[in-house]
Amino acid sequence: MSLTPRDDIALMEGYHSPQVDVAVRLNTNEAPEPPPAGFARALADEIAALDWHRYPDRSYGALREAIAHHHGVDPSQVFAGNGSNEVLQTLCLAYGGAGRTVAVFEPTYALHSHIARITGTGVAVGERSPELTLDLAEVRRVLSEVEPAITFLCSPNNPTGMLEEEATVREVLDLAPGLVVVDEAYGQFAPWSALELVADDRALVVTRTYSKTWSMAAARLGYLVGPRDLVAQLDQVVLPYHLDAVKQAAGRLALAFDDEMRARVAALVEERGRLVARLTELPVTVWPSAANFILFRPDQHEGAEVWKALLDRSVLVRDCSSWPRLEGCLRVTIGTPAEDDAFLAALEEALA
Ligand code: PMP
Repeated sequence: MSLTPRDDIALMEGYHSPQVDVAVRLNTNEAPEPPPAGFARALADEIAALDWHRYPDRSYGALREAIAHHHGVDPSQVFAGNGSNEVLQTLCLAYGGAGRTVAVFEPTYALHSHIARITGTGVAVGERSPELTLDLAEVRRVLSEVEPAITFLCSPNNPTGMLEEEATVREVLDLAPGLVVVDEAYGQFAPWSALELVADDRALVVTRTYSKTWSMAAARLGYLVGPRDLVAQLDQVVLPYHLDAVKQAAGRLALAFDDEMRARVAALVEERGRLVARLTELPVTVWPSAANFILFRPDQHEGAEVWKALLDRSVLVRDCSSWPRLEGCLRVTIGTPAEDDAFLAALEEALA
């Protein structure tokens, strides 16, 4: 059988993060603990009462309502998908496509450009500054040259961890000819959110995920908050009944555990401070993080060597060392204090 995919797909490299069996897994920015026990019980009760022979609520009204209530917005400003990746894909399907371009500023989340390409959208790549911060002169250059349909920001940015300030986001909004997407997959760990800028007359959406803060990476659920007209367009584009009934219930029930989740975020932010302080005592360069992970680069060793030495000690971090613009860098997710101690001990040995 010889089946030929689209030329542009055949040339693509996939997106991979190895799922290795190790004692300490700090490579994919997940929450270190499962959701509260009360959540699992409440979800089990809902599942027991499900109408399995019926399609789920196509417009996921109760989930939409719960997310909207959580953010103090109207349900018509909320669109949800199977992970925030699907939300990003739906945005590209609706506002990107053939003959259109998105702008990204590297290094940033690899899926922004990958999803754009999958949807047949062109990608214009701008560079961050040597310190890996957004360079507004470069943003101005790229946006005026290519007039992108979508400009992607990521705040806090993956994999650098750095936050975009309100003034920066406002400036990009002023410069962008099309839609601005602020990917806030790690927004809860940061002191500021672009959610407060969302308005019906502003071409801005903010995306969020249940995969990190809500300890629900297994559920695949994410959403955006944006202008009502845009949400209505996305509803047209997405497949019918795309959110299954279990996921809709899980997403709604999780939000009832807001207090527990806030406490966990606060603990992770404190733990991040502890980890940064310890890292700065070691011969590594550390970038400031407003997320649940930290980017660092060993000063005297090859990043890939250190990654392997950590793996030999059953600690898995993200190896960014061969990624363009991130030569030698590794990224570690904040885990439980015990996991972080295991990471620090392994790192000290690896750097010795
Ligand atoms: N955006 C960013 C910046 C991410 O790091 C991730 C997860 N790695 C996602 C979006 C996707 O998250 P999910 O699809 O699990 O919601």
